[in-house]
Amino acid sequence: MKLPEVNKITKNHYRRLFQVFFFILTAYAWVRLYLFVSHFDRGWPYVERPASIEAFLPIGALVSLKNLILNRFIDPIHPAALIIFLAVLTSAIVFRRGFCGWVCPIGFISEMVTSAGERIGRTFKGSKYFRVTKYLLLAFFLALILPMSAQEAAMFLFSPYWAIADVKLLDFWLKPGNLTVIVTVLLVLGTLAVKNLWCRFICPYGALIGMLSLLSPARIEKTGCTGCAKCDDVCPACIEVSRMEKVTTPECIMCLECVSECRYGYLKVSFGGFEIKRLYYPVAIAAILFGYFAIAKITGNWDTALRYEDYAKLLRVRELISH
Ligand code: SF4
Ligand code: SF4
Repeated sequence: MKLPEVNKITKNHYRRLFQVFFFILTAYAWVRLYLFVSHFDRGWPYVERPASIEAFLPIGALVSLKNLILNRFIDPIHPAALIIFLAVLTSAIVFRRGFCGWVCPIGFISEMVTSAGERIGRTFKGSKYFRVTKYLLLAFFLALILPMSAQEAAMFLFSPYWAIADVKLLDFWLKPGNLTVIVTVLLVLGTLAVKNLWCRFICPYGALIGMLSLLSPARIEKTGCTGCAKCDDVCPACIEVSRMEKVTTPECIMCLECVSECRYGYLKVSFGGFEIKRLYYPVAIAAILFGYFAIAKITGNWDTALRYEDYAKLLRVRELISH
């Protein structure tokens, strides 16, 4: 018997549009940070520093969260780091790992490199046991930060290093050491060979988001199956969707590729038992993120308290500033 084909959109172009949008926003922020630093280093025209660049400071943001809990104030130096971190954690608790599947620019790059690897016919799945690496890295960072006292957390947030942590990160990529070059090349080659190597096996941020996603009522649910296993083939997280009734694993990045791929519409996004239209899912993730950003901006918790003169002094001596 021929089954009805109810799902006409089998390619998830919508997701690529989201990913490209957030990738462009990220690239724009890095270019603006470069122009900001170049004003002080080379006398170029002044460009305001983009607060959104603080999305790349999640470890400091964890200290900032600890400070908020213990000392009851929002870090005034990089408040956006904390706001973005809280927005991502909230999106994970409510809607699982949609941040990874639709927003994260590193995840997007990882998928692009993986698809280049697939085109040259060299992608392996890799053993799922290697996933332990990202949980060990997460445990390492938690072990460093969770025992910090209220005073230590505040001292870190008012240190010169934290003040220019974003600029140090830019310097790190503009003037990479030998080890950085070797590790980056190995990661790119590794991702050409092993599907989404970084996200599946190494990223501690993804591990944290995955753990929190276990609290979420959102999941992929199956209402039937032909056993074709096409959903398994498209899954960037290498999950065997065809063998499951529900996808509840923290590895699922809620990309909805499996939902798009099932021509019979057997796979659905559900939230507490209610179906969510797949096109609304990323909109809900974006609403959480931009909702946090807007509230932070309105309440004055988005831009740094550092002034122009502070940056002028700090950037001049930044070679001398370390952890
Ligand atoms: S696993 Fe990490 S790098 Fe990959 S998408 Fe998630 S947060 Fe981004
Ligand atoms: S199970 Fe489906 S939604 Fe989850 S990562 Fe795999 S393809 Fe994406």
